[in-house]
Amino acid sequence: MRFPFALTKKIASHIIKHKLRQTPKFAMVLQLEPLHTCNLTCTGCGRIREYSTSLKDMVPLEQCLQAAVECDAPMVSICGGEPLIYPKIEELINGLLEQGRVLYICTNGMFMRKKMRDYLAAVYSPGLEPKLKQLLGEKLITEKEAEVIRKSDDPAKKKIVIRPTQWMYWNVHVDGLEFTHDLIVEREGVFKECVEAIKMAKIIGYQVATNTTVYRETDVREIEDMFKYLSSLEVDGHTISPGYDYDAAKKDMVSRLGKDPKQFFLTRDMTREKFAKIQDWGKAFTIFGTPVYQEFLAGKRELTCTAWAIPTFNVKGWKAPCYLMTDGHYGGYQEMLAKVQWDKYGVVNGVARDPRCEHCMVHCGYDPSGALGTNYQSGDNWKNFKYNFGAKPKPFPASPELAKRAFNGVSIGKGHLAEAKAAINSPAAGARGAFSHKEEPHSHNGNGNGNGHEAHVGSHCGTGDTSERDDLLAKIKDAKKSQ
Ligand code: SF4
Ligand code: SF4
Repeated sequence: MRFPFALTKKIASHIIKHKLRQTPKFAMVLQLEPLHTCNLTCTGCGRIREYSTSLKDMVPLEQCLQAAVECDAPMVSICGGEPLIYPKIEELINGLLEQGRVLYICTNGMFMRKKMRDYLAAVYSPGLEPKLKQLLGEKLITEKEAEVIRKSDDPAKKKIVIRPTQWMYWNVHVDGLEFTHDLIVEREGVFKECVEAIKMAKIIGYQVATNTTVYRETDVREIEDMFKYLSSLEVDGHTISPGYDYDAAKKDMVSRLGKDPKQFFLTRDMTREKFAKIQDWGKAFTIFGTPVYQEFLAGKRELTCTAWAIPTFNVKGWKAPCYLMTDGHYGGYQEMLAKVQWDKYGVVNGVARDPRCEHCMVHCGYDPSGALGTNYQSGDNWKNFKYNFGAKPKPFPASPELAKRAFNGVSIGKGHLAEAKAAINSPAAGARGAFSHKEEPHSHNGNGNGNGHEAHVGSHCGTGDTSERDDLLAKIKDAKKSQ
């Protein structure tokens, strides 16, 4: 099976239950943002700027757990910010698992190995030695760390830890191969750390997914290579979604000055071009998301936005109308469902009900539409069934060539602090230095900023001005050409 049976059953039962009850609107995935603080400052990330980044501004544990009960989504995506910074992340994960939720921990990967070492220390017995040997052999832990695990004391044994379970996925943010990813996150070594964390997680027995956003300037051939490499690591699933960012000023330039929208937006046409091969990717790799949503991305059908199915809860409350846009926050999920005028949003028959929605095709608005059958066409149920219950694609064969293509950045001396940064900031690569504006204040004020965040399995962080990432990706392309 492409996805674990128990998970598929849980989600299918939830949909059937609400269909039988004729519930008009209900939650499928809760995007839970316990905090917006992050250890990274990725280019264009608005999430860490739109909300306060103070550690004080956190959703208390009880409120997080209550939000899940309130909306009763079978899946919860814990995102942020970096959720592994949340001081009670272990309690949160365990509490949500006790509620019977399927969890996706959306992380930039930097603290995963630490959390997994905590787990190993808590459960250490001599029977774990073969695994420790393997981890040591692959240099995923050091001798010193292995000793700490072996000598774990009582507090370490009693610590609440994140245990592997079929109900939880690490969901690691990866936006390209080493060169690109490290540039986007503006730190050398992050890609390598993600890969090492993924390898360690697989050895220990965790499920691992990845999430990727496609921007206007994303090179889809690189994304294919990335899937091949991640698949060779036996990653259990991938979410991929178009980025989206609405900016009224850019829209104004399009209408007033007759500029080409393609200069500013990842338009629907461009998204369709980029995702032309999504159905082939779905066959070759374990892509999360319904085949109906994949058809939508490939331009083969229309869907209606069902953003209410993927509500976001954070320090300000229930965010409406969607993960990307903020027109308000509400005190309760049902209150939000009742008070938001949902028919003001989305695109229907090619006409945007809200100009900010015009080019949006993101997961968090449209993937649930595929699962919920909002634009049902004959055969859709069979397609979804076949996709979920069909054979899982085999891992892509690992090879030194593939690894060499993946580690094309700092590992071979092309780190962003050295050649890469110089290359992309050179006059030849464009007037604006890609790194010159990372500390500029960003004001999002609910004007529809965002990146692609997956609806089916949660999201990754980084909502913000996608044009900043596009600038950066354009420079990366130029830099690669001159290599
Ligand atoms: S921006 Fe996208 S997800 Fe949000 S309401 Fe508009 S169409 Fe739906
Ligand atoms: S994109 Fe994610 S990892 Fe990067 S700064 Fe934003 S919240 Fe942190």
